[in-house]
Amino acid sequence: MRPLTRPDPDAPCILGIFAHPDDESFMVGGTLAHYASQGVYTAILCATKGEAGEIADPSLATRETLGQVRAGELRRAARVLGVRAVRFLGELDGQAATWNVERLRSLMVQAIRQLRPWAVVTFPPGGTTRHPDHMAVSRLATEAFHWAADPSRYPWQLVRGLAPFQARRLFYGHPPSSVGLERVLARLAKLGIPTEKFREDFGGLALPEETDIHVVMDVSATVDVKLRALLCHRTQMPAEGFVRALPPEALPVVLGTEFFQQVWPVPAPGVQLGGLLDGLP
Ligand SMILES: [Zn+2]
Repeated sequence: MRPLTRPDPDAPCILGIFAHPDDESFMVGGTLAHYASQGVYTAILCATKGEAGEIADPSLATRETLGQVRAGELRRAARVLGVRAVRFLGELDGQAATWNVERLRSLMVQAIRQLRPWAVVTFPPGGTTRHPDHMAVSRLATEAFHWAADPSRYPWQLVRGLAPFQARRLFYGHPPSSVGLERVLARLAKLGIPTEKFREDFGGLALPEETDIHVVMDVSATVDVKLRALLCHRTQMPAEGFVRALPPEALPVVLGTEFFQQVWPVPAPGVQLGGLLDGLP
């Protein structure tokens, strides 16, 4: 993996760790765009190139070329979001059971030690969609977050000049709660937009109410950027899919809020933050 370096290694930085191209835009696209627009250095690690995904339009890719095409789509989406660096970690889409987890975790630890991010964002343990790749990335990224600070983990990286590094915060990005989803559906219904498809697509993903959400990011200011990034993932965007079928007035409703749980350090009960980096350093 090409080293990750940034101009000022002590300045604010957010690292997102995901499984497939498009996870970044769906989950946290508005938040990444928001922080990039504030001058925060943002970067993405992606475990796979998404080579097992859909091909929305056969003129865009073949089964053989899909990985390369989707890698290009992620690089374009990252540019739209203002993300400064993207690294693919070389595992195969849909094959989490056969991933070389030791190698993958050491690359994540190496990236954290090189980049020195203030905050790391990844999937929750259930992977949001129960996708085994997402669940594996959640587990490995969580371990890597802690292991990066521990000099006994991957000591050869330290011999090669890296230092142990404790990132300040670890977040899981979440979908809305079931109550939050009902609120979104009610607002869509008020706009005269049919909600059955949304209920179908997202009803099963809604977050249990008891999950602590510490940051609710209003990303309505960057929702257009988020949509443009999503649309870079052309192979994943069939015309009948919800993103392309979304009427403009529905955009801020559906895409304009992103939810985060701070899993390290665990905040005191009832604490709410205004953003991922609020109150730091
Ligand atoms: Zn995914």
